[in-house]
Amino acid sequence: MDRMTELTAEMFLENTTEFLARARALDCIQDLTARQPKTIAAGARRASKGVFSNFVDGLPRMIPMIAGRAHGPFIADLDGNEFVDLDSGRGVNFLGHSSEVVTGAVGSVLGNGFTVAAGNEVETALMSLLLDTVRWAEGGFLSNSGTEATMHALKLARAFTGRPHVAVFENSYHGHHNDVFVTRLPDGSTRPSMPGVAPSVASSTTVLPYDERAFEVISARASDLACVIVEPIRSSFPRFDREFLVGLRQVTMEHGVVLAFDETLSGFRFRFGGAVDEDGITPDLATFGKIIGGGLPIGATLGRSEIMKMAVTSGEIQRDIQTRTHVLGTFCGNVVACTAGLAQLEYLRNHQDEVYGTIGAAADRFAGHLERLRDEEGYPIVLRRYESLVRPFFGAMSPDNFAAFGHPDRNVVAEYMWTYYLRAAGVHLPELLYPFFTYAHTADIMDAVCDAVTESFAGLRKDGFW
Ligand code: PLP
Repeated sequence: MDRMTELTAEMFLENTTEFLARARALDCIQDLTARQPKTIAAGARRASKGVFSNFVDGLPRMIPMIAGRAHGPFIADLDGNEFVDLDSGRGVNFLGHSSEVVTGAVGSVLGNGFTVAAGNEVETALMSLLLDTVRWAEGGFLSNSGTEATMHALKLARAFTGRPHVAVFENSYHGHHNDVFVTRLPDGSTRPSMPGVAPSVASSTTVLPYDERAFEVISARASDLACVIVEPIRSSFPRFDREFLVGLRQVTMEHGVVLAFDETLSGFRFRFGGAVDEDGITPDLATFGKIIGGGLPIGATLGRSEIMKMAVTSGEIQRDIQTRTHVLGTFCGNVVACTAGLAQLEYLRNHQDEVYGTIGAAADRFAGHLERLRDEEGYPIVLRRYESLVRPFFGAMSPDNFAAFGHPDRNVVAEYMWTYYLRAAGVHLPELLYPFFTYAHTADIMDAVCDAVTESFAGLRKDGFW
């Protein structure tokens, strides 16, 4: 098939149904279709029943991946095909799927009640561990997801400052609540980034450029600005810009704006604790999730005591009703998630060199292999990397500037199709996403991943995607 005339980016974006129908004729897709009949049938059954996927935003899945089982570095589909899993539950199973460390701990508490909706000692132990590690923080609340954690952070900041507005940075992700679903248009104005989001968010949330230009905007809007929330390491474009974060800390402090680091993804991923704690840049609030739940749903909002206090009962009922906000939820601090998180974090704390060493080596191997293929075989790949967060982009864009989804230099078609060529070669990585490495991604597993990458790139080239 001549992809250049038949499977263009334009068709992918504007006539996706036709694109997918044609792509199904490719040998790679036909082979996968033949290997995954039960998985494909199960996908169709889900859709006809009204069971919709909520873990891949807006992207069609040409061939669904429905897990029968996941263990260690592997995920198996319903046909019994086993793949090396580079998704790792979007990076939550830091020790691998169903690690004995976590399953053993969870198994031992199952007879003691799951959700008790009362304070319990595992919750205390998990939050104490977080506070002992993130030393600048003086208190914290547990919740059930990173989304809840950032939502609570913004609410606490508004309650504390008495100011109505918040600010986020472009190409950042803080979960799926209204406050953070805002897009900046080329003229600098903002609008809700999708239908269903309250229109008022366009005036209450400012979207900032992720560089020094943001400081002027923050200064100008400070009297209304409660909080600036930032991913210290952006997953969309991983890099650590120390100077920028120091400047951001300065300008927010100068104007009494609460600075929140969203560490949902980065927390405990590169070292034991916050991603940039050791660099001496201290925010007022920080949010965590993913790794701290050991594979179960969790979120945490930590911060300075005077801000945390805004949701803590003082004992004076009338005054609290007037001045305090609420951070709550039926499942917050449930025994099972806290046990899983505590087990994963304690193991991590006690085996830091081995775990972070293995994960760093996996990332080195993956990035090194991609770079070799780029340099020796001429594949057009751009890599952005911060430690174990390796983000490959396909295309001719500059490695220094973020190229959005529809950018003309970005080959989104090849990025999308890579999922299927990789899967055919034995590796699972969802459409247009990037890998998360775990303690289970040992050297021999990464050898298999590198071989699969080589095979997948050759397939993409053979079929004309490059
Ligand atoms: N914040 C960041 C930086 C994230 O990466 C994510 C999830 O990927 C979230 C918030 C939302 O977390 P959750 O999916 O647990 O709601």
